[in-house]
Amino acid sequence: PRRLVAMSSSSTPVEEISKIREALVKGFASGKTKNVQYRKEQLIHLGYLLHENRDRFVETLATDLGRPTLEADFLEINGTISEVQEAYKNVEKWSKPESPPFTLNWFFMRPKIRREPKGVVLIIGPFNFPLWCLLGPLAGAIAAGNTVALKPSEMSSATADLIAELIPKYLDPEVVSVVKGGIPQTSKLIEYPWGHICYTGSQRVAKIIGTAAAQSLTPVTFELGGKSPVIVDKSADLKLAARRILWGKCANAGQICVAPDYLLVLREVEEPFIKELRAVYNSYFGANPAKSDSLSRIISPQHAARIKKLVDETKGNIITGGEVDVDQRYVAPTIVRDVANDDSLMSEEIFGPVLPIIPVDSVDEAIKFINSRDHPLVLYIFAQDRKVKEKVFASTNSGGAVANDVVLHPAAAGLPFGGVGASGSGYTTGKWGFNTFTHFRATLDVPGWLDKIALSHRFPPYTDKKLAD
Ligand code: NAD
Repeated sequence: PRRLVAMSSSSTPVEEISKIREALVKGFASGKTKNVQYRKEQLIHLGYLLHENRDRFVETLATDLGRPTLEADFLEINGTISEVQEAYKNVEKWSKPESPPFTLNWFFMRPKIRREPKGVVLIIGPFNFPLWCLLGPLAGAIAAGNTVALKPSEMSSATADLIAELIPKYLDPEVVSVVKGGIPQTSKLIEYPWGHICYTGSQRVAKIIGTAAAQSLTPVTFELGGKSPVIVDKSADLKLAARRILWGKCANAGQICVAPDYLLVLREVEEPFIKELRAVYNSYFGANPAKSDSLSRIISPQHAARIKKLVDETKGNIITGGEVDVDQRYVAPTIVRDVANDDSLMSEEIFGPVLPIIPVDSVDEAIKFINSRDHPLVLYIFAQDRKVKEKVFASTNSGGAVANDVVLHPAAAGLPFGGVGASGSGYTTGKWGFNTFTHFRATLDVPGWLDKIALSHRFPPYTDKKLAD
């Protein structure tokens, strides 16, 4: 149900933020979130919030992003519910104190690692996955026993409104609170010290968040983006590669942090691969993609205009698409071949359904190309040759690396999701998300009798005899 009608959205007055924070501080100080059963109760409520309001979220995602229902379910709502379920099922296990491996020297001091909540934490979300990137980390933060301020993106305002409406209905207001708004609200929020800040968004704003957090020595997780490359090797199944890559590029109209940003295609398979891409393009979107019900829209006219500029300035050859209707926030799925390293399409994360193809002579050249840029959030390789896949994994670095598919890995149970270098630091999913919001507190409980056999050695006077022992 594509609605694309922006709803009015009121922001939280900046002067209310200190009160909101105080309630969360009080909530944490009450000790209620130290109780694992209480955390489970909150997680169940969060699960119901998503489940009972699924249709409304489908609607808000259609309003914000022109999202088709299938994409809303498959890419966002299902995955967010899974995060909550996983946290609910595992919170007892995850939060248990742990003993380190046995060592005779330390065993009698009863060494333990306690999983303590970090305290009152802040989660700042982006527009492109306004549920998954906000409520996914929230599941980890609640499971770890924190109280949480949520700052949804003001760009996806319909979803932000709905989150702000529902959170107080389902969750304890001393445990989770929503601050709505943009730069003024976020700027105020980051003046405070937090147990942790989890920020998902652009690299540009990450620097602002990091600079502010440094003033209060607040630890930060950065879930960022960048240009995630795809290598298409000559051993690739080209039909499969075309099908998956074009889907991953166009889902959510390319506004996915792990979308394939650009392709490095081995020259000898370039022609047959482009033929496969054209075929799949027609089967996905037909002759007039603007009429397709299977294509999301760009979040705002400003963002559509940014993408239009990149397309207008490319020196590559546009082989499909190229049309942009800024007012309608529509960007046609666009494939551009013969793109050079210094092209407009290679200057920044595209974040739209535009796919540049750069021909390369060898896998080594592709690896060199990737290694000359920032570490990407994810690297994709399409190849059937096992040695090629291994070589690419072994000689590059990136947040994640996937062979023969795209976009799915953030949802893979048990795997950490996060970037490296300029694509981010820290992890947010499953147990890794729980750990992000957890302080690993080392404890010892040292019996007095140990001084009789070992530990008295350390006390003055430091005699020669003690030194000799
Ligand atoms: P953004 O940086 O513009 O906004 C993110 C948040 O920062 C919003 O809540 C916004 O209100 C706030 N913000 C914006 N400007 C600010 C300022 N000057 N001071 C303080 N706060 C400010 O990001 P976006 O455009 O919403 O998101 C897109 C980016 O996020 C892309 O780069 C994408 O790759 C990345 N992303 C990463 C992940 C991941 O998990 N790694 C997931 C989704 C998106």
